[in-house]
Amino acid sequence: MMARIPIHVKIIASLLLGVAAGVALNLWWTDATWASLGVTDKAAFLAGGEGNSQAGWAAAMVKFAVDGTRFFGKLFIRCLQFIAVPIVLFSLIAGAASLGDVRKLGRIGGKTLFWFLVTTAIAIIIGIALTSAVRPGERIGEASKTKLTAQYAAEASKKTDEGKIKAKSMTAWDQLLDTVPANPFAALANAQMIQVVLFALVIGGALTVIPKEKAKVVIDACDALTEAITMLVQGVMKFAPYAVFTLICPIIATTGLDVLAALAIYALVVVVGLSIVNFGLYPLLLWFFTPRHNRVTFSRFFRAMAPAQLLAFSSSSSNATLPVNMACARRIGVPEDIVSFVLPLGATINMNGTALYQAVVAVFLAQLYGIPLTLGDQVMLILTATLVAVGTAGVPGASIVLMVIVLQSVHVPTEGIAVILGMDRILDMCRTVVNTGGDAMTATIVAASEGVLEHRRADDPGEFA
Ligand code: ASP
Repeated sequence: MMARIPIHVKIIASLLLGVAAGVALNLWWTDATWASLGVTDKAAFLAGGEGNSQAGWAAAMVKFAVDGTRFFGKLFIRCLQFIAVPIVLFSLIAGAASLGDVRKLGRIGGKTLFWFLVTTAIAIIIGIALTSAVRPGERIGEASKTKLTAQYAAEASKKTDEGKIKAKSMTAWDQLLDTVPANPFAALANAQMIQVVLFALVIGGALTVIPKEKAKVVIDACDALTEAITMLVQGVMKFAPYAVFTLICPIIATTGLDVLAALAIYALVVVVGLSIVNFGLYPLLLWFFTPRHNRVTFSRFFRAMAPAQLLAFSSSSSNATLPVNMACARRIGVPEDIVSFVLPLGATINMNGTALYQAVVAVFLAQLYGIPLTLGDQVMLILTATLVAVGTAGVPGASIVLMVIVLQSVHVPTEGIAVILGMDRILDMCRTVVNTGGDAMTATIVAASEGVLEHRRADDPGEFA
């Protein structure tokens, strides 16, 4: 009976349960509850530190449940990360070797980059326009501003320092140079996706030049490994409905409701902006740029993409979502060679949600600190937010570190990061959905423009049967 329920329905149910449990814990599991179990310093207790000598077996059971929940969530993400690098490597070597045409590759590469850049720029403009219209920065009281700044000052300054170090290697030249691995094995070991993509393309291309019988061994091996890893994705995804609960519940349980209340309008602007991109811009572009006889409608796109979108939301990581995003893009009808080229690249450089978020934060903080943004500043914002989005890694919370660069470019004080930090994780979940959705959308449009988009039924279960 359970098996017949589509996977996305199971994930949604688990997500809702996780949110409900998180809200209940947030409201009813207070410091007094901890005290009744003999725990006076909950942070130290949960971290396994000393103190709390009064804590009895009931407290130990609670700690076991908390640790177990976090363990299961992390294990699930780790299994997906485990799959991400090998699947990109093997599928792309096999794909590039079968493409065997440098001109075609260049054309697909050009179209991909074009769509990545266009959608990123549009997302930023939507972010700036929306924040300028609603002006959430002017609706936040001085008391909230001071309180949030004090509450998150230490964490914010740690992130800001990290960001300042990263900023040094963020010129366009450095980023370009960074696409070429000095050591491909280090690139694989460190999951440097762009470098892995380049490595696979070069090897795949070279295989087309050497004698066919020699190349065949490698190509067949890569094909078989791709198939084996795809099986692993299916296996891991069977656990998604349980894992999603364990990922979401702790986040909701630990988000301060006071922070949420203070930043509600700002958070709403981010969420509305992201929704416009994900549910408005993407379906619109798909409607226009897929052929009438094989149109990718709103329902076809989101039915195919539901598992990836839900997973991006639960994991806040484009990298962890990548293997599932690839499977979902195949469900839309994008052929394997385009999937394995566009999606890994996109997971690293195409971050429309992140770009929009950076823009909203910059304008919001400028309003909060009373700094006017000229037209020149706004153009600067579009440029830096694009560059930063390209350089942001597909892991949770990555963009907060690079936020320093965006804020500095428009002369907004970087201490402002403390104000928004308390809401970052939840908004990270939302922006990752948009980041990964943009990659699949681009792959679909590129496939359509090449005339290779396959016909698929909207309810085709694909690999999630
Ligand atoms: N978490 C985002 C992602 O993986 C990156 C970010 O904006 O922090 O796509």
